[in-house]
Amino acid sequence: MGLTQLEEFKTTLINNDHFKRFFPQQDIESMSEYNAAIQTAKDVFSQIVTSQPHPYTGLSQASIEQGLELAFPDVVPERGLSIDKVMEKIGETVIAHSIQVTNLRCLAHLHCPPLTSALAAEVLISASNQSMDSWDQSTSATVVEEKMVKWLRDLFYEDKTANGVFTSGGTQSNLMGLLLARDHFLHKKFHWDTQQNGLPKEAGRMRIFCSADAHFTVRQSAFLLGLGEQAVIPVETNQHHRMSIDKLKEKLHQAEKEDLIPFAIIATAGTTDFGSIDPLNELARVADQYNVWLHVDAAYGGALMLSEQHSHKLEGIKQADSITVDFHKLFYQPISCGAFLLKDEEHFNYLKLHADYLNPEEDEDEGIPNLVTKSIQTTRRFDALKLFASLQVLGKDTFAQMVDYTIDLAQHTAALLEEDSNFEIIHQPEINAVVYRYFPKEHREDPVWLNDTNAFIRSKLFEAGAAVIAKTRVNKSIYLKFTLLNPLTTIEDIKEIINQMKQLGEERGRHNDR
Ligand SMILES: *Cc1c(COP(=O)(O)O)cnc(C)c1O
Repeated sequence: MGLTQLEEFKTTLINNDHFKRFFPQQDIESMSEYNAAIQTAKDVFSQIVTSQPHPYTGLSQASIEQGLELAFPDVVPERGLSIDKVMEKIGETVIAHSIQVTNLRCLAHLHCPPLTSALAAEVLISASNQSMDSWDQSTSATVVEEKMVKWLRDLFYEDKTANGVFTSGGTQSNLMGLLLARDHFLHKKFHWDTQQNGLPKEAGRMRIFCSADAHFTVRQSAFLLGLGEQAVIPVETNQHHRMSIDKLKEKLHQAEKEDLIPFAIIATAGTTDFGSIDPLNELARVADQYNVWLHVDAAYGGALMLSEQHSHKLEGIKQADSITVDFHKLFYQPISCGAFLLKDEEHFNYLKLHADYLNPEEDEDEGIPNLVTKSIQTTRRFDALKLFASLQVLGKDTFAQMVDYTIDLAQHTAALLEEDSNFEIIHQPEINAVVYRYFPKEHREDPVWLNDTNAFIRSKLFEAGAAVIAKTRVNKSIYLKFTLLNPLTTIEDIKEIINQMKQLGEERGRHNDR
């Protein structure tokens, strides 16, 4: 491009008001465009939330596709539309038919209603668009994230040598835990440098022990780390769905007899289905005895640390070599927001790589923090800010009360279901998940009917938009699940859902009898 062309380009494009309004800039016009656009997005959202009584409109996939096709025939139209028009159409075709997580009867997964304080912080996070990989892309943001990491360190560990980093969630944190466990073990045991050399021949014999109810990302991490799913040895749980220590010891012993190499134990503090918490103190003792890494997956249960009433359930967590916590579950943050914590910060060295353009070694000598050194992500969101803002706005007591209330609600819900002869519950909730099924007397001997009816009840409630509840399998039988994250859901809401479930079950019973 010659100079004249560049000049031309500048006059026709860069100084052109048409382009200016696409970016928030220092001038008043572009800022008012920005303010109006954000206002439109807020209006679209609040209009839908306030006018929608149900957690889902019940539309089928085909209808959603059709509506979208009609509103947006081209992904890239020949000529752009106004922001208002685009937002309005997105509202009608997409947001209106999304799962309304703010609805009090949205009770399926570890999928929380986000806090207003966090949503306000999201506006700042996205607009300021800091990237957490290097100091020169995230100055004050780095300071805030490090402050939050110190707070987490003090909450979960007493060690000043502990450290951590924000992550996209539990999947990434679990992967990091197992990655460091693997590389630390190989270094310690075989003086092997995995970062440089890849996996040694012993890798095919390395084994991870976790409860049979552990999250599937443990298996996923094992195959991503080149150890194969074969590396994961599931350990039976007891009647409370907690890992059985006796069974663990048996399996460890057996593995050693078979010349396999145990290198990590994964404890779950809040299993996804039952919210059950493995015995952390005992697991720490076993890990110590076998000289293996202990990772605690507290993606779900980590929030109990904020509660005076329930933090004792996580006693022993500080002995973990690494910990996963999610904030987009019981900390009420919009997706995504999680953390990975490490007892001995030295172990972050197993991930460290220096890129001249991002985190050169001289920066480290000068004490300039480039957080990419602790992360497996490069470009990374400033998610620490929304958690910080929420803690500031709510304060510790309110946070704790929300967690306590939902645990209480789960206990009351379990009691209701237990008293009702039409239902069966299979555990006493430890956090706020309740697993149960419709189980009327006259069909108890008919496993096919029970499975079909429970699946039927769930999909009918979903299609009618009456409630969003989850389905899981326990010993081949279909069970239903309430995950009671919303502190505004009341026992009355639950009673109504239970009544609706009974009506649907009875309806199906009558059809079958005919
Ligand atoms: C949700 C969850 C995960 C996965 O975390 P994401 O944030 O979804 O990536 C891992 N472990 C447990 C116990 C979980 O509940």
